Amino acid sequence: MKELVLLVILVIFFQVKSLAQIEEKEVFRNEDVVFHQIDEHTWVGVGHVMYNESLYLVEGNDKAVLIDAGTKIADLDKIVASLTKKPIMLVATHVHPDHTGSAIDYFPEIFINQADTVMIPLMMPDYKGVVKYLKDGEILDLGKRKLEVVFTPGHTPGSVTFIDKDAGYGFSGDSFGSGTLLLALDFSTLVSTCQKIGAMMDKFGIISLYPGHYDGKNLETRKRVNDIIILSKDVLSGKVKGEKSQWGDLVVSAYGVNINYSEKAIK
Ligand SMILES: [Zn+2]
Repeated sequence: MKELVLLVILVIFFQVKSLAQIEEKEVFRNEDVVFHQIDEHTWVGVGHVMYNESLYLVEGNDKAVLIDAGTKIADLDKIVASLTKKPIMLVATHVHPDHTGSAIDYFPEIFINQADTVMIPLMMPDYKGVVKYLKDGEILDLGKRKLEVVFTPGHTPGSVTFIDKDAGYGFSGDSFGSGTLLLALDFSTLVSTCQKIGAMMDKFGIISLYPGHYDGKNLETRKRVNDIIILSKDVLSGKVKGEKSQWGDLVVSAYGVNINYSEKAIK
Protein backbone atom coordinates (compact mmCIF):
# COMPACT_ATOMS: atom_id res chain seq x y z
CA MET A 1 0.00 0.00 0.00
CA LYS A 2 2.83 2.36 0.94
CA GLU A 3 4.47 1.63 -2.40
CA LEU A 4 1.23 2.30 -4.21
CA VAL A 5 0.94 5.71 -2.60
CA LEU A 6 4.53 6.43 -3.54
CA LEU A 7 3.92 5.36 -7.10
CA VAL A 8 0.95 7.71 -7.36
CA ILE A 9 3.06 10.53 -5.93
CA LEU A 10 5.82 9.77 -8.41
CA VAL A 11 3.49 9.76 -11.34
CA ILE A 12 1.86 13.04 -10.29
CA PHE A 13 5.19 14.62 -9.51
CA PHE A 14 6.88 13.63 -12.72
CA GLN A 15 3.90 14.40 -14.95
CA VAL A 16 5.72 17.49 -16.10
CA LYS A 17 7.40 16.51 -19.30
CA SER A 18 10.66 18.29 -19.68
CA LEU A 19 13.42 18.41 -22.22
CA ALA A 20 16.97 18.26 -21.00
CA GLN A 21 19.43 20.90 -22.18
CA ILE A 22 22.59 18.85 -22.19
CA GLU A 23 25.63 20.43 -23.77
CA GLU A 24 27.67 17.30 -24.37
CA LYS A 25 27.73 15.79 -27.86
CA GLU A 26 24.55 13.99 -28.92
CA VAL A 27 25.26 10.48 -30.18
CA PHE A 28 21.82 8.88 -30.46
CA ARG A 29 18.23 10.08 -30.65
CA ASN A 30 14.87 8.44 -31.19
CA GLU A 31 11.37 9.06 -29.84
CA ASP A 32 12.11 7.36 -26.50
CA VAL A 33 15.58 8.50 -25.54
CA VAL A 34 18.45 10.85 -26.38
CA PHE A 35 22.01 9.82 -25.56
CA HIS A 36 24.83 12.30 -25.01
CA GLN A 37 28.49 11.50 -24.51
CA ILE A 38 29.82 12.61 -21.10
CA ASP A 39 33.38 11.58 -21.87
CA GLU A 40 35.14 9.06 -24.07
CA HIS A 41 33.69 5.99 -22.35
CA THR A 42 30.59 7.34 -20.59
CA TRP A 43 27.15 8.25 -21.91
CA VAL A 44 23.91 9.61 -20.47
CA GLY A 45 20.55 8.68 -21.94
CA VAL A 46 17.56 10.85 -21.11
CA GLY A 47 13.91 9.94 -21.59
CA HIS A 48 11.01 12.36 -21.45
CA VAL A 49 8.18 10.39 -19.84
CA MET A 50 9.00 11.19 -16.19
CA TYR A 51 10.97 14.42 -16.04
CA ASN A 52 14.21 13.58 -17.82
CA GLU A 53 14.56 10.11 -16.36
CA SER A 54 18.21 9.28 -16.92
CA LEU A 55 20.31 6.21 -17.55
CA TYR A 56 24.06 5.98 -17.76
CA LEU A 57 26.33 3.73 -19.77
CA VAL A 58 29.79 3.31 -18.25
CA GLU A 59 32.39 1.43 -20.28
CA GLY A 60 35.61 -0.20 -19.16
CA ASN A 61 38.15 -2.24 -21.13
CA ASP A 62 36.34 -5.54 -20.56
CA LYS A 63 32.73 -4.72 -19.89
CA ALA A 64 30.19 -1.97 -19.50
CA VAL A 65 27.59 -1.19 -16.89
CA LEU A 66 24.19 0.24 -17.73
CA ILE A 67 22.89 2.16 -14.73
CA ASP A 68 19.07 2.16 -14.90
CA ALA A 69 16.79 1.50 -17.87
CA GLY A 70 14.39 4.45 -18.00
CA THR A 71 10.61 4.23 -18.14
CA LYS A 72 9.84 2.77 -21.54
CA ILE A 73 12.60 2.59 -24.12
CA ALA A 74 12.07 0.19 -27.01
CA ASP A 75 15.10 -1.90 -27.98
CA LEU A 76 17.30 -0.39 -25.29
CA ASP A 77 19.65 -3.38 -25.54
CA LYS A 78 20.29 -2.63 -29.21
CA ILE A 79 20.69 1.09 -28.58
CA VAL A 80 23.36 0.61 -25.92
CA ALA A 81 25.04 -2.09 -28.05
CA SER A 82 25.43 0.57 -30.75
CA LEU A 83 27.39 2.70 -28.27
CA THR A 84 29.61 0.03 -26.74
CA LYS A 85 30.79 -3.35 -28.02
CA LYS A 86 31.51 -4.58 -24.49
CA PRO A 87 29.17 -7.00 -22.70
CA ILE A 88 26.69 -5.03 -20.63
CA MET A 89 25.69 -5.57 -17.01
CA LEU A 90 22.42 -3.90 -15.97
CA VAL A 91 22.29 -2.37 -12.51
CA ALA A 92 19.62 -0.18 -10.92
CA THR A 93 20.01 2.81 -8.62
CA HIS A 94 16.64 1.78 -7.17
CA VAL A 95 13.44 -0.02 -8.07
CA HIS A 96 11.08 2.66 -9.37
CA PRO A 97 9.21 2.53 -12.68
CA ASP A 98 11.16 5.41 -14.22
CA HIS A 99 14.44 3.57 -13.56
CA THR A 100 13.47 -0.08 -13.86
CA GLY A 101 10.84 0.36 -16.57
CA SER A 102 9.88 -2.04 -19.32
CA ALA A 103 13.32 -2.00 -20.99
CA ILE A 104 14.75 -4.18 -18.21
CA ASP A 105 13.05 -7.05 -20.06
CA TYR A 106 15.74 -6.86 -22.76
CA PHE A 107 18.32 -7.89 -20.18
CA PRO A 108 18.56 -11.41 -18.70
CA GLU A 109 19.58 -10.16 -15.28
CA ILE A 110 19.47 -7.03 -13.19
CA PHE A 111 21.51 -6.13 -10.12
CA ILE A 112 19.81 -4.20 -7.31
CA ASN A 113 20.21 -3.56 -3.61
CA GLN A 114 18.30 -6.35 -1.88
CA ALA A 115 16.54 -3.78 0.33
CA ASP A 116 14.52 -2.69 -2.72
CA THR A 117 13.14 -6.19 -3.23
CA VAL A 118 10.01 -5.01 -1.38
CA MET A 119 9.32 -2.70 -4.34
CA ILE A 120 9.48 -5.45 -6.97
CA PRO A 121 5.86 -6.74 -6.79
CA LEU A 122 4.51 -3.30 -7.61
CA MET A 123 7.31 -1.62 -9.51
CA MET A 124 8.65 -4.39 -11.77
CA PRO A 125 6.13 -7.26 -11.46
CA ASP A 126 6.57 -8.67 -14.96
CA TYR A 127 10.33 -9.09 -15.08
CA LYS A 128 11.21 -12.61 -16.17
CA GLY A 129 14.96 -12.31 -15.78
CA VAL A 130 17.09 -13.00 -12.73
CA VAL A 131 17.30 -10.41 -9.97
CA LYS A 132 20.74 -10.39 -8.37
CA TYR A 133 22.01 -8.38 -5.44
CA LEU A 134 24.73 -5.77 -5.12
CA LYS A 135 26.78 -5.48 -1.94
CA ASP A 136 27.59 -2.24 -0.16
CA GLY A 137 31.24 -1.39 -0.82
CA GLU A 138 31.52 -3.88 -3.67
CA ILE A 139 33.76 -2.92 -6.59
CA LEU A 140 32.45 -3.48 -10.10
CA ASP A 141 35.62 -4.06 -12.11
CA LEU A 142 35.01 -3.14 -15.74
CA GLY A 143 38.64 -3.54 -16.78
CA LYS A 144 40.86 -0.48 -16.24
CA ARG A 145 37.80 1.18 -14.74
CA LYS A 146 36.06 0.55 -11.45
CA LEU A 147 32.73 1.54 -9.96
CA GLU A 148 32.23 1.35 -6.22
CA VAL A 149 28.78 0.39 -5.01
CA VAL A 150 27.60 2.63 -2.17
CA PHE A 151 24.23 2.03 -0.54
CA THR A 152 22.45 5.37 -0.07
CA PRO A 153 19.00 4.65 1.43
CA GLY A 154 16.41 7.39 1.88
CA HIS A 155 14.53 7.84 -1.38
CA THR A 156 13.94 4.10 -1.28
CA PRO A 157 15.23 1.47 1.17
CA GLY A 158 17.62 0.12 -1.46
CA SER A 159 18.86 3.23 -3.23
CA VAL A 160 22.41 2.90 -4.56
CA THR A 161 25.09 5.32 -5.72
CA PHE A 162 27.90 4.19 -8.01
CA ILE A 163 31.23 6.01 -7.63
CA ASP A 164 34.03 6.21 -10.19
CA LYS A 165 36.89 7.46 -8.01
CA ASP A 166 39.35 7.88 -10.87
CA ALA A 167 36.90 9.93 -12.91
CA GLY A 168 35.90 12.00 -9.87
CA TYR A 169 32.18 11.51 -10.35
CA GLY A 170 29.39 9.14 -9.50
CA PHE A 171 25.82 8.23 -10.40
CA SER A 172 23.30 8.63 -7.61
CA GLY A 173 19.85 7.95 -9.07
CA ASP A 174 17.26 9.73 -6.95
CA SER A 175 19.23 9.38 -3.70
CA PHE A 176 19.83 13.14 -3.48
CA GLY A 177 16.77 14.13 -5.44
CA SER A 178 17.96 15.91 -8.59
CA GLY A 179 16.83 19.06 -6.74
CA THR A 180 13.63 17.57 -5.34
CA LEU A 181 14.00 14.64 -3.02
CA LEU A 182 11.08 12.31 -2.37
CA LEU A 183 11.96 10.82 0.99
CA ALA A 184 10.36 7.42 1.61
CA LEU A 185 12.46 6.62 4.68
CA ASP A 186 13.17 8.84 7.69
CA PHE A 187 15.36 11.91 8.09
CA SER A 188 17.91 10.17 10.34
CA THR A 189 18.57 7.64 7.59
CA LEU A 190 18.87 10.47 5.08
CA VAL A 191 21.39 12.30 7.28
CA SER A 192 23.48 9.11 7.62
CA THR A 193 23.37 8.58 3.87
CA CYS A 194 24.46 12.15 3.16
CA GLN A 195 27.25 11.96 5.74
CA LYS A 196 28.46 8.69 4.22
CA ILE A 197 28.53 9.97 0.64
CA GLY A 198 29.87 13.37 1.75
CA ALA A 199 32.83 11.71 3.47
CA MET A 200 33.55 9.72 0.31
CA MET A 201 33.33 12.82 -1.85
CA ASP A 202 35.83 14.58 0.41
CA LYS A 203 38.20 11.62 0.66
CA PHE A 204 38.29 10.72 -3.01
CA GLY A 205 37.77 14.12 -4.62
CA ILE A 206 34.38 13.32 -6.08
CA ILE A 207 33.18 16.57 -7.61
CA SER A 208 29.74 15.63 -8.85
CA LEU A 209 27.07 12.97 -8.90
CA TYR A 210 24.99 12.47 -12.03
CA PRO A 211 21.37 12.35 -10.90
CA GLY A 212 18.47 10.14 -11.93
CA HIS A 213 16.71 13.05 -13.63
CA TYR A 214 19.44 14.98 -15.42
CA ASP A 215 18.55 18.21 -17.17
CA GLY A 216 22.10 19.27 -17.99
CA LYS A 217 22.37 21.65 -15.03
CA ASN A 218 21.45 19.71 -11.89
CA LEU A 219 24.50 17.64 -11.02
CA GLU A 220 24.55 16.79 -7.33
CA THR A 221 27.45 18.48 -5.52
CA ARG A 222 29.13 18.27 -2.12
CA LYS A 223 27.25 21.46 -1.27
CA ARG A 224 23.92 19.88 -2.21
CA VAL A 225 24.67 16.87 -0.01
CA ASN A 226 25.59 19.17 2.88
CA ASP A 227 22.51 21.32 2.37
CA ILE A 228 20.33 18.22 2.62
CA ILE A 229 22.02 17.40 5.95
CA ILE A 230 21.42 20.92 7.29
CA LEU A 231 17.79 20.96 6.19
CA SER A 232 17.16 17.45 7.55
CA LYS A 233 18.61 18.38 10.95
CA ASP A 234 16.47 21.52 10.99
CA VAL A 235 13.38 19.38 10.43
CA LEU A 236 14.44 16.87 13.11
CA SER A 237 15.06 19.63 15.66
CA GLY A 238 11.75 21.30 14.88
CA LYS A 239 13.48 24.48 13.70
CA VAL A 240 11.88 24.08 10.30
CA LYS A 241 8.31 22.91 9.82
CA GLY A 242 7.06 21.33 6.64
CA GLU A 243 4.19 22.74 4.64
CA LYS A 244 1.48 20.67 3.07
CA SER A 245 2.52 19.72 -0.43
CA GLN A 246 0.07 19.64 -3.30
CA TRP A 247 -0.53 15.91 -2.91
CA GLY A 248 -1.01 15.93 0.85
CA ASP A 249 2.44 15.05 2.13
CA LEU A 250 4.80 17.58 3.62
CA VAL A 251 7.52 19.58 1.93
CA VAL A 252 10.42 21.69 3.17
CA SER A 253 12.45 23.93 0.89
CA ALA A 254 15.70 25.77 1.52
CA TYR A 255 19.08 26.27 -0.15
CA GLY A 256 17.60 25.16 -3.47
CA VAL A 257 16.73 21.77 -1.98
CA ASN A 258 13.17 20.49 -1.68
CA ILE A 259 12.40 17.44 0.44
CA ASN A 260 8.99 15.78 0.30
CA TYR A 261 8.18 13.50 3.20
CA SER A 262 5.46 12.18 5.45
CA GLU A 263 5.03 12.93 9.17
CA LYS A 264 6.48 9.58 10.19
CA ALA A 265 9.80 10.49 8.51
CA ILE A 266 10.60 12.78 11.45
CA LYS A 267 12.80 10.45 13.44
ZN1 LIG B 1 12.79 7.12 -7.70
